[in-house]
Amino acid sequence: MINTKKWNPQQILKHYYGYDQFRKGQREIIESLLKKNDTLAIMPTGSGKSLCFQIPALLFEGKSIVISPLISLMKDQVDNLKSMDINATYINSSLTTEEIQERTNAFISGDCKILYIAPERLNTFYFLEGLSTVGIEQVAVDEAHCVSQWGHDFRPSYKLIKNFVSNLKGNPVISAFTATATQAVRQDIKQLLGLNQPQTFDMGLKRSNIYIEVIKGKNKRQFLEGLIDKRTGESGIIYCSTRKTVDELFLYLKKKKIRIGKYHAGMGAERRKEMQEAFILEDIELMVATNAFGMGIDKPNIRYIVHYNMPKTLESYYQEIGRAGRDGEPSQAYLLYSDVDKSIQRFLIEKSELNDERLTIANSKLQDMVNFCHTHECLWKSISLYFGETGEKDCQNCRNCLDENLIEKDITIETQKILSCVYRMQQSYGASTVAKVLKGSKSSKILLNGFERLSTYGIMKQLREKDIRELINFLSAEGYLDVSNGLYPILKLNKKSWEVLKSGKKVMKKTSLIKADHKPNPKLYDELKALRKTISLEENVPPYIVFHDYTLREMSLIKPLTDEELLRIKGIGEKKLKKYGERFLQLIKKHK
Ligand code: ADP
Ligand code: MG
Repeated sequence: MINTKKWNPQQILKHYYGYDQFRKGQREIIESLLKKNDTLAIMPTGSGKSLCFQIPALLFEGKSIVISPLISLMKDQVDNLKSMDINATYINSSLTTEEIQERTNAFISGDCKILYIAPERLNTFYFLEGLSTVGIEQVAVDEAHCVSQWGHDFRPSYKLIKNFVSNLKGNPVISAFTATATQAVRQDIKQLLGLNQPQTFDMGLKRSNIYIEVIKGKNKRQFLEGLIDKRTGESGIIYCSTRKTVDELFLYLKKKKIRIGKYHAGMGAERRKEMQEAFILEDIELMVATNAFGMGIDKPNIRYIVHYNMPKTLESYYQEIGRAGRDGEPSQAYLLYSDVDKSIQRFLIEKSELNDERLTIANSKLQDMVNFCHTHECLWKSISLYFGETGEKDCQNCRNCLDENLIEKDITIETQKILSCVYRMQQSYGASTVAKVLKGSKSSKILLNGFERLSTYGIMKQLREKDIRELINFLSAEGYLDVSNGLYPILKLNKKSWEVLKSGKKVMKKTSLIKADHKPNPKLYDELKALRKTISLEENVPPYIVFHDYTLREMSLIKPLTDEELLRIKGIGEKKLKKYGERFLQLIKKHK
């Protein structure tokens, strides 16, 4: 490793990480630590907490210890550091005793600067004994809220940290990081970790790169298929509220040849691990899961989250959508609301045998969630308010803020076509058969019934069948068509239908403008991704350890041809240039 002691944080950022600018709060937190102030940083998920303790670790003379609760993330973080040529290692229960001894020795006497460790190991003898001779200059505590019983993931062994630190040589500075902390949790972090007159940095909750939208009155499966169709090649998670829904949706989408996995607590540990790995390695691009999925994954390029069912609290909702877009790139979260979900959540709460007080709390949290789904206020502002933050401005990145960007389209003619088709089919068929007739399908069911002789046969053939179905759903959601109950719902005309058919009452539908193109140069971008996947297989690391999505996207836009040009791309530092530069340049040259 190069001697970086005389460098400044900005130089480290560029040389190792390949980034030009610090994100909000990072510079201040790093400076506070370099001045040896104990520091508590509250920053949203994906805002870049790791770099705030890693950069000081590289600048300090002595070594740094990072305490982290999630074993699966440790390896990932260390792999990531190594891929940038930073010498780091980890110790946790996934290793054998010999491996642990070896790594401890390497940390104590070698030039390894950063050691990740699980809190449970802090009081093991071998480890403490070894450390008595080394100067530790920083102890970083990740997910610091775990020390508090009031937090959402209490870990008793976090209470070992205070005593551990006080026995270390070298009077290390303590840095503590978390994404959400109420006042009570902050107090606990300061006290129970023994922070000394800490500097506190609070970056709020808002994740400005995540667009949020609540969708009502749409056929969920259809919405999902449409979305997945548009987003092929991108990673997403679909959250459902029950295992049964996960299983059903998984089968349904699997049949459509979508590369999808599933995850819930009812599956064996082995199978869950398999699924999680396939998702991280991008062998599958979608995961349909209950809220059991997500804690241990740090995949930075999850592009969208769908809540197929409404979660039961805003806490869960915030945590789950927070898994999107950790790399800071535009990402989306869609919540598919239906009244049925509200009843399911009510039922689940009733069934959970809470005592009276907790039952009341659970129900009132559920009501807050339902209100969130119906508000016309800025959705991000509503989340902040819920967590006790006032004074947030409108976000301009949720459906409610962007509503004026929706265009209203007159769909009276389309509506008349659909309604008269329903009429001509004797009001005896469901949405999918009606859509087939309008599309002019030649399937046997249509021909056997002689539907091709109807005057409405094929009158919407320029649309895709599923778009016709979606229009039909919209019309029933808005009351222009009745749908019968039962296993095979049948479309019927009503008073409102006749108003459109007879007196030409106008029907309007809001449609969103298509947002910025996700793939600026789709062909090159896909090839760059394929190359990244090849390398990731060769090196046995997840694709994002090789390069982030935005790095590939910028490459496909700018098409760099020299090393210098490559270095200017976000996410490419000296080390990655040396390792991969040549192969990527060759590929890009083919596209010039
Ligand atoms: P957190 O721990 O706060 O959830 P991470 O430390 O895992 O977030 O960082 C999330 C992502 O943001 C990582 O992919 C990281 O490389 C990236 N990142 C961090 N800082 C910057 C920066 N200054 N510029 C660009 N990307 C950054
Ligand atoms: Mg983190």
